[in-house]
Amino acid sequence: MVGGGPGGLTFAHVLHRHGYPVTVLERDPSRDARPPGGTLDLQEKMGQVALDKAGLLPWFQALSRPEGQAMRILDTDGAVLRDWRPRPGERANPEIDRGQLRELLLGSLEVQWGREVTRVEPGGGDGTVVHFADGPPQRFDLVVGADGAWSRTRPAVSPARPHYTGVTTVETSLDDIDTAHPGLAELVGEGSLGVYGVNRSLVAQRNSGGHVKVYARFRAPLDWHAHLDLADPEAVRSSLLAMFDGWADSVLGLLRHGTAFAHRPLHVLPVSHTWTHVAGVTLLGDAAHLMPPLGAGANLAMLEGAELAEAIATSTSTSTSSGTGAAGLAELDATVRAFEETMWARAAKWAQITSAGLERLVSPDPAEAVAVFDEVQPS
Ligand SMILES: Cc1cc2nc3c(=O)[nH]c(=O)nc-3n(C[C@H](O)[C@H](O)[C@H](O)COP(=O)(O)OP(=O)(O)OC[C@H]3O[C@@H](n4cnc5c(N)ncnc54)[C@H](O)[C@@H]3O)c2cc1C
Repeated sequence: MVGGGPGGLTFAHVLHRHGYPVTVLERDPSRDARPPGGTLDLQEKMGQVALDKAGLLPWFQALSRPEGQAMRILDTDGAVLRDWRPRPGERANPEIDRGQLRELLLGSLEVQWGREVTRVEPGGGDGTVVHFADGPPQRFDLVVGADGAWSRTRPAVSPARPHYTGVTTVETSLDDIDTAHPGLAELVGEGSLGVYGVNRSLVAQRNSGGHVKVYARFRAPLDWHAHLDLADPEAVRSSLLAMFDGWADSVLGLLRHGTAFAHRPLHVLPVSHTWTHVAGVTLLGDAAHLMPPLGAGANLAMLEGAELAEAIATSTSTSTSSGTGAAGLAELDATVRAFEETMWARAAKWAQITSAGLERLVSPDPAEAVAVFDEVQPS
């Protein structure tokens, strides 16, 4: 397994649960080497199914925040257009902090930290060779690339590279919002706040512990920051405030009080990305189907990880006579082929939905964004 994100860790957790050996190769030098990122909503029919297969659903239910499903939409003058709250007991899409999810999935797994994969070389019947930035290559029966958007495993099966969508996100955050900025805390509420203007939006999402992530999203050429020092927070803040000039002062407080700023141009793989099957190597998650970040990517990655692990465990336990010899490897290969077909069909559907969604959420007509919300969340 290359990559210890939601997809890779779910795969490893489920395989480990079934008693099978799995090696997780992760580039990060340690489990807390970088901030884990914002909150994730895990859907009842995808991420939560995966957690059930991993035996972790009760822990997720204890940690997740159903109230985080709340969604408020404002216009750029600050007027409330929609204010949706989940019904008591509603658990279709509860939120969980990425850090909490990662801790759950890590459990007692052994991860090889600081193992940056540089290249994966399918080797026919002799196993697949993994090359590292540091240390000698290693050979495996199956390499599963769950190494995200800029996967180093992907070139072993496909020449596809992510392309820029024309939409960029700049992310910032506010700490201890309830005490430090009670007015903004009230504005954001228990879940998410979305404000949509012409070709730009501001979205704020509450994480646990009074932490709020803010995403400024806008259409711009990839080099829009050519004359801006992205490492200078004050310069980035001023540039964003100029870009969102004229929006309600209450809303702009989210940018004014943001601490650090991270630049994230949105890239995607082609919708319906598939490849000619290669024995001994496959992909899942963003490595296979990077799409706009609209609530599906982690869910898909986790479901795929859980399904592939379960399919491998089932096929190898029903063909114990095959062992790990040629017949066993052929069985493994057939299982991976079937998994790929299922993954491709489902991911293509979501890639279409999220690509169309991004077009409408960052569009010349802000009413489109409200229409998207009404389709997803009819009251
Ligand atoms: C702002 C934002 C909000 C989002 N919200 C949601 C949401 O609410 N719900 C949802 O379903 N999805 C959401 N997504 C999408 C989701 O984050 C991704 O789709 C998901 O993280 C993909 O999981 P993954 O395991 O495939 O890859 P990743 O999470 O990218 O993990 C890849 C792992 O591989 C490691 N790695 C990379 N390269 C190498 C290498 N060469 N060698 C070894 N290791 C390597 C990385 O360090 C990382 O740990 C959001 C995304 C963004 C940006």
